[in-house]
Amino acid sequence: MRRNTNPADEPRMVREKETVTAMIRIFCRGRHGSDGELCAECESLRQYAMRRLERCPFGPDKPACAKCPIHCYKPQMQERIRDVMRFAGPRMILRHPLLAIRHQIDAAKPATRTPPGGP
Ligand code: SF4
Ligand SMILES: [Zn+2]
Repeated sequence: MRRNTNPADEPRMVREKETVTAMIRIFCRGRHGSDGELCAECESLRQYAMRRLERCPFGPDKPACAKCPIHCYKPQMQERIRDVMRFAGPRMILRHPLLAIRHQIDAAKPATRTPPGGP
C-alpha cells in the first residue's frame, strides 16, 4: 500500500526527534545550567540535528545515527552530538524511560548498508 505521509512525520522519525531533543535538554541543563530554554549553542545543535533527520536518506528505516554507515553530520557537529550522547545517554532511562527503551529497540536493528535508492 502506498504511503502518502511525509517521511519526516513517520512515528520513527518523530520519536528520533523527541529523543535527540530530550538528550540535548538533559545535556544543556547539566552542562550549561539552562532551565527550560536551551542555550543558543544547544539550540543550534538541536536545529542542525532536526535538519539532518529530515534529510536522512534512510528515512524511517534509518539505523541508529551512531551505527550509520554515512554519518551525515559535519565533523564538528558530530563531535558535539557525541558529547551530548555520552552525557545524556545514561540519564535518559530515568528522565524519559519510554523514549530510552524505544531508542534501544531502534538501535538494536541492523544498519542498512545503503540508503533506499542508493548504489
Ligand atoms: S547520521 Fe545517518 S542515520 Fe543519522 S541522520 Fe545522518 S544519514 Fe541518517
Ligand atoms: Zn546548552
